Amino acid sequence: MVQQSINPEDFFILVVDDVALNLKVLRAILEPIGYEVSFATGGKQALARIASAKPDIILLDLMMPEMDGLEVCQVIKNDSALAEIPIIFLSASQEKEHLLQAFEMGAVDYVTKPFNKLELLARINTHLTLKHYQDCLQKQTEQERLRNKIIYSIRRSLNLDYILKTAVSEICYFLKVDKVTIFKLTDSYQGKILAESTSTICQIAVAENTYDLSWMEQSFHFLASSRIHVIDNINDSSLSPLHLDFLIAGNVKAELIVPIYQQDYLWGTLIAHHCQNSHTWSTDEIKLLSEIAAELEVAIQQSQLYQKLDTAYQELQYLAHTDSLTQLANRRQFDQYITQEWWRLKREQKYLSLIMCDIDYFKPYNDCYGHPSGDVCLQKVAKILSEGIKRPADLVARYGGEEFAVILPDTNLEGAINVAQQIQQAITSFKIPHIQSPIEQYITLSMGVTSVIPNDNITSDDLITAADKALYTAKSNGRNQYFHSVL
Ligand code: GH3
Ligand code: MG
Ligand code: MG
Repeated sequence: MVQQSINPEDFFILVVDDVALNLKVLRAILEPIGYEVSFATGGKQALARIASAKPDIILLDLMMPEMDGLEVCQVIKNDSALAEIPIIFLSASQEKEHLLQAFEMGAVDYVTKPFNKLELLARINTHLTLKHYQDCLQKQTEQERLRNKIIYSIRRSLNLDYILKTAVSEICYFLKVDKVTIFKLTDSYQGKILAESTSTICQIAVAENTYDLSWMEQSFHFLASSRIHVIDNINDSSLSPLHLDFLIAGNVKAELIVPIYQQDYLWGTLIAHHCQNSHTWSTDEIKLLSEIAAELEVAIQQSQLYQKLDTAYQELQYLAHTDSLTQLANRRQFDQYITQEWWRLKREQKYLSLIMCDIDYFKPYNDCYGHPSGDVCLQKVAKILSEGIKRPADLVARYGGEEFAVILPDTNLEGAINVAQQIQQAITSFKIPHIQSPIEQYITLSMGVTSVIPNDNITSDDLITAADKALYTAKSNGRNQYFHSVL
């Protein structure tokens, strides 16, 4: 059943024999069947023939002058590019001893002279069929391996740019095409190349070809009209004139277009090009490109979802760490940051300073101007504080109602006092009216400043308590001032 399925015209047989009559007989047997046959009268000639055109099977005479069949067989089997060619030995019956050697060397069969025509044909057919299916299986396995490799690289990333670039270069290599392109179609019936891979042959063509995508407009409906477009020869296809011009300018001879969908809309296309000759796309090639397009559909969807998730996560992180009224860091972030900096500066044995600030007489402010105005005032103070902070590592947080905290890593007491003075000046110069304040006509702050090199005897909570105590002292000393303490 299997044997009927091979077509003799697809196979090329090399016959090697030093006796001209034998060659003549073999020609008369093989050619009428349809095999393509070539002849050699000696070992050296045979090897030269094999080098120029690789036969599917070799009928090799065992005994020949100069170089015998065994030697020829040995050369072939030692060459990895040729070793798979089946060799059937032609032998006279008295040469049986040598024949064993031939089998050891990798011959698949032998036929004794004089030939029995039917037996010879049956054996050739069997070995060609075996070889054919072996080749198919090997090709299939290799294809499967490469396909899995491409799909693996698509699946292991969420970075769409990386995925598309990897896909085109892998397909280019795998299908041995000259160019692979991924177009993303836009609403305006235009296309944008998101990824392109080009073999060396086609680079000249691309360099000459600037991508005028106006053909997209004409081709959009064509592209969107069905799932796959197989164009073996651009001149034989019913392409739009603009599309044809575009392909000619790009030196394209054949192309395979597979659409990439997202839900129910056409997202873009995956296109493989041949630039040297027209090309009959095989079902395997079409299948592979479609499978990869399907994988890309999933990858695109996943990366879009991931992007949305990532954005949502970033927003959530921001919300979780930010005070909604003032947009400053909230208490949660204050706690995390002071702990983190405490450990870092303990390792580095550097100063960590903290300023606790509290608006003076804010209750009377609220009572006088109303709670919403109190909120606006808090926003203004928050802005003044954050603008007064210079270093990237410094952090201003809303610690409580009208209480703010300034964390100053790698800053000693002198530096922290400097910052407190600047804050006080800035608040003063802003002149936020506060007619109910018993000490000034404007909003003022009281501040407690502390500084320490973190060590084993104290914790970051001790630093906060000390700053709070200093703040309390500033309040009791008359407000609108800072007080500093050391631990
Ligand atoms: P002191 O000078 O001793 O700090 O006096 P004070 O009035 O500022 O302190 P007190 O703690 O008595 O009052 C704080 C006020 O801050 C009371 C509270 O209503 C107000 N406050 C706290 N959070 C907010 C807020 O988010 N918005 C507004 N408008 N007011 C707030
Ligand atoms: Mg207050
Ligand atoms: Mg207070």
